[in-house]
Amino acid sequence: MELLSPRPGIGQIKPYRPARPPEDGAAWVDLSLTVNPLGPGKKALTAYRHMAAQIHRYPDWSQDRLRHAIARRYDLDAGHITCANGSDEMIHLVTQAFAGPGDEVLCHEHGYRGFMKAIRAAGATPVIAAERDLVVDVEAMIDRANERTKLCFLANPNNPTGTYIPSEMVLRLRAGLPSHTLLVLDSAYADYCRRDNYSDGTAIVENSDNVLMVRTFSKLHGLAGLRVGWAYGPAGVIEAVNQTRGPFNVGIAAQAAAEAAVGDTEHEEATFAHNSAWLPWLSHELEQLGVRVYPSVCNFILARIPTDPSLGVQAVLDHLARRGILVKPTLDYGLADCLRITVGREDENRALVAALGEILS
Ligand code: PMP
Repeated sequence: MELLSPRPGIGQIKPYRPARPPEDGAAWVDLSLTVNPLGPGKKALTAYRHMAAQIHRYPDWSQDRLRHAIARRYDLDAGHITCANGSDEMIHLVTQAFAGPGDEVLCHEHGYRGFMKAIRAAGATPVIAAERDLVVDVEAMIDRANERTKLCFLANPNNPTGTYIPSEMVLRLRAGLPSHTLLVLDSAYADYCRRDNYSDGTAIVENSDNVLMVRTFSKLHGLAGLRVGWAYGPAGVIEAVNQTRGPFNVGIAAQAAAEAAVGDTEHEEATFAHNSAWLPWLSHELEQLGVRVYPSVCNFILARIPTDPSLGVQAVLDHLARRGILVKPTLDYGLADCLRITVGREDENRALVAALGEILS
């Protein structure tokens, strides 16, 4: 019997295996994934628990209440919103709907790796534009576009670099790409980036017919485990995603919790304030230890470990692990001498700095 083999491209997908604490019962400080250190808000938790008695039912396929809650919060048209099982699923859905074998999809050099997985899964070909000093280079992206470019992904701000480009550069990118290319703005960390020259993408979506914005409840709203993401875009693009998605892709409790979370501005502000206090603290403390820290507008930092041949990134990771601390190596992003460190709770941040101090100073 011949061996079954998946379509070309599937074998090239690198498995995503986040670091896991050993199951030894010890308490670990996990700063390896970019989640909210304060956890979910009370309103989301209450709504989630309230739904427990309903979990024998299928969720609302139209995602009506959630879409309207998002629309109210961000002043959008609910008819132009659709939701998915995390923004990762949204990235997969839009890629499947718009690109396939023979098509090209444009990404940036140290861009979010979820794009590559979705592109390969759809059978399309990724094309990677170089960045400049870990910042997206819009002209390099425009140069790589052609008649086969069906999609262009821009993570703004980006994970794992933590950097962003101003809204005028996003407009320049849109203007320079072919009109048949759908520009997908992944604004997963937009809630953290309150800069005057930054826009989450809402305005550009509303003034174009070929831009989609993707957002998530996993970061500021603290609901990573429930898997809720959403997209805002032109009616035809939203319709294509709806045709592609499963009708019950966002669970009943996840929809309820996200609906409550998006109205919980108190929890949003507490999270934002925590991040605004500890991101600079962490950056400063690491710089004092000789670590190069890239300027981040997110809830994590990218840290370049000093290049001493006797002290590689692995030695630092091993030392942190001995102290019960997990951070993320960024080798898969082409950043072999860096670590991505999420802003944690105060005790976690202090534990990390103390442990790094032991090995770097
Ligand atoms: N986009 C970016 C830039 C991310 O960093 C992440 C999560 N790491 C996602 C999308 C996916 O988030 P989720 O699927 O949890 O919504």
